[in-house]
Amino acid sequence: MKKTTTRLADGRELIYYDGRDDAVRDAVDRRPLDPMASASEVRRDPLLGEHIAIASHRQGRTYYPPADECPLCPSQEGRLSEIPDSDYDVAVFENRFPSLSGDTGRCEVVCFTPDHDKSFADLTPTQARLVLDTWTDRTADLSQHPAVEQVYCFENRGKEIGVTLDHPHGQIYAYPFITPRTEQMLRAAEQHREATGGRNLFDDTVEAEQADGRRIVLDGEHWTAFVPYAAHWPYEVHLYPKRRVPDLLGLDEDERAEFPHIYLDLLRRFDRLFGPGLPPTPYVSGWHQAPFGIDHRREFALHLELFTIRRTADKLKFLAGSESGMGVFINDVPPEAAAQRLRDVVSA
Ligand SMILES: [Zn+2]
Repeated sequence: MKKTTTRLADGRELIYYDGRDDAVRDAVDRRPLDPMASASEVRRDPLLGEHIAIASHRQGRTYYPPADECPLCPSQEGRLSEIPDSDYDVAVFENRFPSLSGDTGRCEVVCFTPDHDKSFADLTPTQARLVLDTWTDRTADLSQHPAVEQVYCFENRGKEIGVTLDHPHGQIYAYPFITPRTEQMLRAAEQHREATGGRNLFDDTVEAEQADGRRIVLDGEHWTAFVPYAAHWPYEVHLYPKRRVPDLLGLDEDERAEFPHIYLDLLRRFDRLFGPGLPPTPYVSGWHQAPFGIDHRREFALHLELFTIRRTADKLKFLAGSESGMGVFINDVPPEAAAQRLRDVVSA
């Protein structure tokens, strides 16, 4: 992998990740851009102890441009995008409309492929591996950022999930605090450790799923994927390396080599869940990694959580009164049935 770091016209960082070591990325951003205006602010909700990012400048962000004005496609003569080069493998840049920036963290966009009409599931294993290595390198870089406590690499896919650009891409949020979800997991792990005389919650959870077997979707040599016992979403899969590591940096070469095959298989199953002739399954997929500055960091288990908000071919799961108001999810699809469906639906 070759990494080339450069700057866009407004000063934002752009980083190319290339599979070939002889790739030359010296194209200059020739757009007349104003300096980036970002005024994100983090406020803490005193009742819940949770952080909220207030980012009013995001209201003006790009919303579904026509395909020939896509800001994530490579630049062409007469049509300049966020990527000055006429080609790339994987490209990462600071979001022009960040929810977090400066001393409130950082938001990055990860372009998975220069091909506008592909999706992550269409990538080759080699391309998916380059994305994995990119996520890993971003995590390493952002861990050095003084304001950053936690790095979240994720992909939102589909209009239904709020995606405003069709081009296959993901995002990285580098938070200046530990997120509420991670706080909850750390607390649960701590309680489990105390209650069991030192056992690890993540290990015990994965072992229990493997012993039960009904919710396992894919079982590789180094990775296992299952629908969790108490899934929140109609179709939800958690993917763990079999050896516990705190973050992407902890994965070894064997785990990295197998990941693309398992993950592409999972995504292709997701796309087939509701049968042919439908728009692709909307989903959220994100890596849970240990925050940087905590005690017991190695007890956290890196894993990926993938879920869709679609519950039938024509129905979406909305976060309504119980979910939005009280945080209590009502799931209409039994996790065992969801796992069966995901096993039956053949990936190709
Ligand atoms: Zn595009």
